[in-house]
Amino acid sequence: MASSTTNETASSTEPSHEDMALQPPAVQDPALLHRSLTQQPHLVTHAQGNYLYLPNGQKVLDACGGAAVAIIGHGNAEVIAATVEQMQKVSYVHTMSYTTSSAEKLATLLLSKSSDMHKLTKAYLVGSGSEANEAALKAARQYFVEKGELQRCHFVARRQSYHGNTMGAMTISSNLPRKEPYNDILPTNVSFVSPAYAYQYQRRGETEEEYSERLIQELRREILRIGHEKVISFIAEPVVGATSGCTSAPKGYFRGIREMCDEFGILLHLDEVMCGVGRTGTYFAFEQEGIVPDIVTIGKGLGGGYVPVSAMLLSEKVVDVLRGGTSAFNHGQTFQAHPVACAAGLAVQNIIKRDGLVESCAKAGKHLETLLRDAFTNCKYVGDIRGRGLFWALEFVEDRSSKRPFKKGIAFGEMVQKTAFELGVAFYPGTGTVNGIEGDHILIAPPFTVSNNELFTLVSVLKQAYEVAEKAV
Ligand code: PLP
Repeated sequence: MASSTTNETASSTEPSHEDMALQPPAVQDPALLHRSLTQQPHLVTHAQGNYLYLPNGQKVLDACGGAAVAIIGHGNAEVIAATVEQMQKVSYVHTMSYTTSSAEKLATLLLSKSSDMHKLTKAYLVGSGSEANEAALKAARQYFVEKGELQRCHFVARRQSYHGNTMGAMTISSNLPRKEPYNDILPTNVSFVSPAYAYQYQRRGETEEEYSERLIQELRREILRIGHEKVISFIAEPVVGATSGCTSAPKGYFRGIREMCDEFGILLHLDEVMCGVGRTGTYFAFEQEGIVPDIVTIGKGLGGGYVPVSAMLLSEKVVDVLRGGTSAFNHGQTFQAHPVACAAGLAVQNIIKRDGLVESCAKAGKHLETLLRDAFTNCKYVGDIRGRGLFWALEFVEDRSSKRPFKKGIAFGEMVQKTAFELGVAFYPGTGTVNGIEGDHILIAPPFTVSNNELFTLVSVLKQAYEVAEKAV
């Protein structure tokens, strides 16, 4: 299987001389200039459709779109044309006094996905998932400032969650390895409750509904411990991405959470930076939970990787209070709603809409699920196979009966990912801390344009890579 993707040289996409000139030197200089202090990243000379190309001509199927970003694949001519056209028309204006039709059309399109059922009525367009979450923390606080509830200063989030790398977003995150060096300088007005992570934490004999109820009651206890009148918002990813690998909540969980937020006047902020924009088979993952959040953040797939663009979407309830308040929402950034980012994001989202790609994602996801279950159900170290839409993960464990993760340092998922890359398919390895042990998984998030043949290749290569890792441990 691998031979169809490995070392395959695409005749029409031979690397140009310029690309070849960018090749890393044969003897690697350990002092690399871009980001990594220790590792040699792969140089990608060009990317087209669902493939990345390396200097040696190797063609790699992009089965994770970076980190679930490239939802329509690479090099789309329509997106490129729309981006260039915007640069020619208006390359930049400041949002303090100006707007552009690209920004307005993108906001309209995003809000139209939700207006009837979910009543999201305002979009703030920024550059990254972290920025969208920073904006959301401030908007939530300002909502209570405007209401005169100044004592509300506390956030509640979940363990095994990731909301970004900036200070505020990291404060509400629980990705321990990323957070640890900064713990002493992060704000402490946050509590963490258990994640909704049935594979590791649902008790034997406990039904899904009972597990859900246990989690909801834990949140209630924490809110009451802090004092419900002090809590600003509860923050959660509807389907958790990087920290535990495509984990959905048990039935009834989000409905119970919504009810509790309403009971105590707390805002519900759902972080769909990774799982939103169609990734789980509906435009917003929360649609599958039958609830209406107060604040939603999206990113990654919004610009499909062509540009950095993300958004915070606010419900009517929040917007009404901010609009009627004493001051505007003073969250301005120089590159907010950047015209070029908005034009590219709009082009990506228009393609998604025109070509019915959310529906394609849901359909392809069912096919992917069948292939994954057929290939991995009885594998020694595959503890769980889970996901929705085109957002799937395999959780690797050392012992399937106790669900005990591999010891720190084994990095089973990373081994699988490295071998799969050599075999011509790119995946995203992830780690999360399970009962104090760093567990691992591999994340599968191909573009919505993935074909059945590509899904077959992806799973076959993943299986080969898994078998190599299985022999190695
Ligand atoms: N929220 C979630 C759920 C994410 O997965 C991520 C990134 O992986 C972020 C926020 C942060 O987004 P960014 O890396 O674009 O700042």
